[in-house]
Amino acid sequence: MRTRAAVLRDYNTPWSVEEIELDPPKRGEVLVKMVASGMCHSDEHAYDGHIAGLVPPPPMIGGHEGAGIVQEVGEGVDWLEPGDHVVFGFIPACGRCPSCADGHSNLCDLLATFTEGTQALDATHRHHTLDGKDLGLMCLIGTFAEHTVVNEASCIKVDKDWPLDKGCLLGCGVVTGWGSAVYTAEVEPGDYVAVVGCGGIGSNAIQGAKMAGARVIAAIDPVEFKREKAMEFGATHTFASMEEAQAALGDVTWDRGYDKVIMTMGTGDGDSLGEGFNLGGKRAKIVVTNLHSTTEGSISVPAIMLTMMEKQLRGSLFGSANIRKDIPRLFELYLAGQLNLDDLVTKTYTLDEINDGYEAMRNGENIRGVIVYD
Ligand SMILES: [Zn+2]
Ligand SMILES: [Zn+2]
Repeated sequence: MRTRAAVLRDYNTPWSVEEIELDPPKRGEVLVKMVASGMCHSDEHAYDGHIAGLVPPPPMIGGHEGAGIVQEVGEGVDWLEPGDHVVFGFIPACGRCPSCADGHSNLCDLLATFTEGTQALDATHRHHTLDGKDLGLMCLIGTFAEHTVVNEASCIKVDKDWPLDKGCLLGCGVVTGWGSAVYTAEVEPGDYVAVVGCGGIGSNAIQGAKMAGARVIAAIDPVEFKREKAMEFGATHTFASMEEAQAALGDVTWDRGYDKVIMTMGTGDGDSLGEGFNLGGKRAKIVVTNLHSTTEGSISVPAIMLTMMEKQLRGSLFGSANIRKDIPRLFELYLAGQLNLDDLVTKTYTLDEINDGYEAMRNGENIRGVIVYD
């Protein structure tokens, strides 16, 4: 079939919204008509080449935070049928590999084909340009398209009454941020928590920390609009920089330092991570959720403090969450009024307006821009 998609033709060139050829789903695959797709910062990194080698090279279809309606299922898919509503996980969860079996489906073995962006089972492509080139898929899903074909392991079935234009955010940013606080940082009642970077991920780390009972949540971001939004999501203090936060450690944490520091910047770098590390106190957990450039080789962390203060540096992928449990659960928390998804969506766009959406992100105007399909 023919459909339309936003294709990255080359690094640092605008997303090209064009017609593509889409093959029908094969064994274990599902054809989905997209309803909405969040515009995450990681696609910006696919665009600028910062995470080259981690995601498929151009030409590729971007987007990894989406939700839609099943149109057709391939052979062997017996738990989904046309008309079912699904939220995609940006990492598939097969349920059978050692990581999935161990309760860490965020590290599922199906990640193996991630870098080529092919279909997970047979490493071939279903998406092609009209002139016959194969198109890789961001995170095996490619949500910047009116229709896509994905492996069933990327699909989480949700109730048909639940709003997919909000639920799409659960496919990456919300679960990643919330889980960074609740699962990776293990925020406990009374904790002092610092969240560094208050965009789509950081806003949800703040919400997670609040839900877990943090006493202090310091939101650190240079953009005033994001600091204001952070207070709405549950921050108790805001700082424009980590330097400012460091200077206020006495007032805010009785000079003890933060129990949990969660790094959710647009792009991490070794020096910033060092600053974040220094905000942590004894036995602090410093959580690295934001992506660093794939070419970065070292970080500026005083290793002596790993020993002398028992500080812990922890990586977090997809918030250390299990999407089959957590996507429906967070959707229910939203419907119960306990999780704020509405204020995360700053503005909606059509697929044709995708480059305007990313321009707004670069200018710090959006917590999340969301593409809503017809
Ligand atoms: Zn993302
Ligand atoms: Zn798995």
